Amino acid sequence: MFKKLFNLKPYRKKSPWILHYNAGSCNGCDIEILACLSPKYDLERFGILNNGNPKQSDIFLVTGPVTFRSRERLVELYNQMAEPKVVVAVGSCTCTGGVFRGMYNVEDGIDQYIPVDVYIPGCAATPELIIDGVVKSLEILENKSKSIEVPFKLSANPKETNGIVDRTNMSKKVGQ
Ligand code: SF4
Repeated sequence: MFKKLFNLKPYRKKSPWILHYNAGSCNGCDIEILACLSPKYDLERFGILNNGNPKQSDIFLVTGPVTFRSRERLVELYNQMAEPKVVVAVGSCTCTGGVFRGMYNVEDGIDQYIPVDVYIPGCAATPELIIDGVVKSLEILENKSKSIEVPFKLSANPKETNGIVDRTNMSKKVGQ
């Protein structure tokens, strides 16, 4: 029961929380993200929640080519998200700079600053493409979860020195 209760992997995949950040977009792709939450597409019925807290989010949905003024916030939000996390670049300008490429105040894509797992092209990216990207990111999230969340158990025979139990190195990963 305890193990089942604290095995978060299935819940994460079935109800991923999203953090949406506008890194200098024209708002076109942001409107399309909001359309994904509208009654026509209604992503929330699948348990996908647009959440404003980086510490509780699994998927980082970013729009915009990254302006000089937004780049620090972008990296800060990325760092605040706990592992495992997946970054999705929504829209052509987020992937490569798009129509803003080469401008004096943009950085030509968010992968100049943070690692990107899924690129969604399009100006603007359509809700269908965004939903495809989120579904793809769930697969990546699951693989990342598997690689870092190895269950562990405490050793049944801890070492004892002069009557003092040595609790260091007591945890042992399953399979080791
Ligand atoms: S990709 Fe196009 S529509 Fe989307 S934010 Fe960039 S400029 Fe706007």
